[in-house]
Amino acid sequence: MGRTDVSAGVGTVEEICRMIDLVSDTMDDYLYICDFQNDFYYISPQAKKRFLLPGNAFHEVMKTHEQFVYPDDIMGLEKEFEILTRGERTTHNRMYRWMSADRKPVWINCRGNVTMKDGKPWYMVGCINEIGGRQKADNISGLLGETSLEQYIVRKTSEGVALDGFFLRVGIDGLKGINARLGMEYGDLLLCRTAEYIQCCLRPEEQLYHMSGDEFLIVNLAGGTEKDAREQYKKIQEKIEQFIEKKNYQVVYIVSAGLLPCSDIREFEIANLLKLTEFTLNQAKKLGKNTCYTFCEEDYRKFLHRQRLMRQLRKAVKHGCEGFEAYFQPLYSTDRSRIFGAETLMRFHSEESGMVSPVEFIPILEETGLIIPAGRWILDQALQACVQFQKVLPDFHISINLSPVQIMKSGIDDEILEGIERYGLAPSQVIIELTESDLLESDQRFLQMWKRLKEKGVQLALDDFGSGYSNFRYLTEMRPDIIKIDRMFTANAMTHEFDYRQLVLFSEMVHSLNLSLCIEGTETKEELQRVSEMVPEYIQGYYFGRPCEKRAFERLIANQEHEIEK
Ligand code: C2E
Ligand code: CA
Ligand code: CA
Repeated sequence: MGRTDVSAGVGTVEEICRMIDLVSDTMDDYLYICDFQNDFYYISPQAKKRFLLPGNAFHEVMKTHEQFVYPDDIMGLEKEFEILTRGERTTHNRMYRWMSADRKPVWINCRGNVTMKDGKPWYMVGCINEIGGRQKADNISGLLGETSLEQYIVRKTSEGVALDGFFLRVGIDGLKGINARLGMEYGDLLLCRTAEYIQCCLRPEEQLYHMSGDEFLIVNLAGGTEKDAREQYKKIQEKIEQFIEKKNYQVVYIVSAGLLPCSDIREFEIANLLKLTEFTLNQAKKLGKNTCYTFCEEDYRKFLHRQRLMRQLRKAVKHGCEGFEAYFQPLYSTDRSRIFGAETLMRFHSEESGMVSPVEFIPILEETGLIIPAGRWILDQALQACVQFQKVLPDFHISINLSPVQIMKSGIDDEILEGIERYGLAPSQVIIELTESDLLESDQRFLQMWKRLKEKGVQLALDDFGSGYSNFRYLTEMRPDIIKIDRMFTANAMTHEFDYRQLVLFSEMVHSLNLSLCIEGTETKEELQRVSEMVPEYIQGYYFGRPCEKRAFERLIANQEHEIEK
């Protein structure tokens, strides 16, 4: 029996229609009355302008609804209408789509209360509001949004059955670029089309949501497998390819997908699901786009570790590079038969992660731009230490690594030259190490910096030579002072004849250009002997000393001097 069972007094249908007319232009939402006994419907007059309605008053309620309800949603609505007409329920609350006057799907939320008379439904009075604007749904793609996804998940988890299936997050690659080139409207069209194509590939038991911007989420909680998801992704790709072809390649775009099987989800909670699906799609994009990536616990663990490390690094830099330390590794001069300098190597230490390798944290510093303050800090530490080491070895040289990001984003040459002056060093006592990278080659700022430092007498070393780029133009055009052979290359040359012969050729070439050679990664006496055949000017490696903190390095060079004096 209904909550509102009256025999009279609430108002007749005619009176309520007049009430609706009276207030309708004071609100954005639409009030309505549905008279069950006369099969009659009346809605705020302004609804006629917005939706594909034949008028704001009509008979044959359900049949007429078929004219303006989005076709996919009609069946569900019919069922609901039957329940209400039979008086089995007296409240109505449903989200579904109506067609707008220009025939586009518009998400609405329709709510109402049924008034009963003599135990039978008399009429339902209620309100319709558009939910597209509130991110429950998106009018461009015609799909439900995040809020609705949350409601769906809450409903499914409350059923108390273990959820099986998958979440497939699909993202358009480079929509921003398309918007910029062809306009937002074209971007919207692509979004719409993509939504349609995904919908075409949807199984009846699946749900589709429009996530932020250019991303969609297919939810299969009906036991769908990884194979099913991958097939679906393939189908979507094919549909898009057909569209591109049909449009004569006016625009070419691709989609990536991140697949999260339910078996990998510990917590079916919206924030967690969004985080995990976002991660899978980002991984797919990182893998080069136009591909589908399946969630992997190990990858996710690494990702979280990296995020944690990033937070620690930010905090450390903010607190004056607390946790960073400068280590020094001896550079051995074969001419002088002694240590003549050191390479400065950054270390990072945090309570949470302990000692972290620069191989791990330098790329994060570069990616976040934190390498600029951290690099400034290490430069200062290096120059300061050099002054101290010169008290033991007057012509001591200090070598400092520079990242391309430092060159691109800051006046690093000014900082180097200022520092040299401040600490009273000779420019030739400072070596700047740079790795080969295509990025630097054609950059004007880099070329200017290189020229300026060279003119001032600072030494320039080309680091990691032989590790992949090995652009010989660097040698002849840039004329670095020192070529540092990558330690992996040295290691290979020690065990493989072919690499060894290549090392010999490299070395001859470097010498024929009148440049100095530094061989890195020399670990043992045997290696030292083989490396010496190359007649390098400098040698670096564990054989002469591992990177160590300042105090230990001071002891090392003091001992060397002591030994030589004896
Ligand atoms: P890199 O510039 O090639 O530095 C030499 C690396 O080789 C150092 O690793 C050093 O410990 C290691 N090494 C030296 N001799 C040997 C040897 O005989 N055997 C073996 N197996 N390894 C040897 P580390 O300190 O882990 O640094 C790794 C990389 O991190 C550096 O490679 C450099 O690219 C980067 N890095 C370190 N400090 C800085 C810095 O202050 N700024 C920038 N931009 N990059 C840095
Ligand atoms: Ca280096
Ligand atoms: Ca190196």
